[in-house]
Amino acid sequence: MSDLKYCQGPECHTYTTKDRLKGTKPNKTFQTRRRSSFYYGNGNFCCLMCQNDWFGTYGDQAIDHFGRLKEAKKLTEQNAWLKRCRWDYERNNGEAEHYYLNKITDEQRPLTKQQYDDTNYTLNER
Ligand SMILES: [Zn+2]
Repeated sequence: MSDLKYCQGPECHTYTTKDRLKGTKPNKTFQTRRRSSFYYGNGNFCCLMCQNDWFGTYGDQAIDHFGRLKEAKKLTEQNAWLKRCRWDYERNNGEAEHYYLNKITDEQRPLTKQQYDDTNYTLNER
């Protein structure tokens, strides 16, 4: 029972669905949904409506807190490397080929499976 969590939607309790109706007469109330897991917003919201309500209420504060973008981010030659994986049937060895692809220059460089799986390994400048 203790690993149940509440939907973080600020208006969740105002949506009058049967599953939100709790208690016995005459003390019935509509309550915030409580579940072991939710599908929306990294598991914090019971539905998209609740996720959108949260953003409508707190979104600007959250963006200001974590840093509002003040200029365009730019994809350049130096940070355009993406890890890719392909199956080449001509090689016919049943193994995927891993490589880096630069989205600006279209240059490809081979990667080992280990480098591909290593989330810290990158050719991109940070
Ligand atoms: Zn909710």
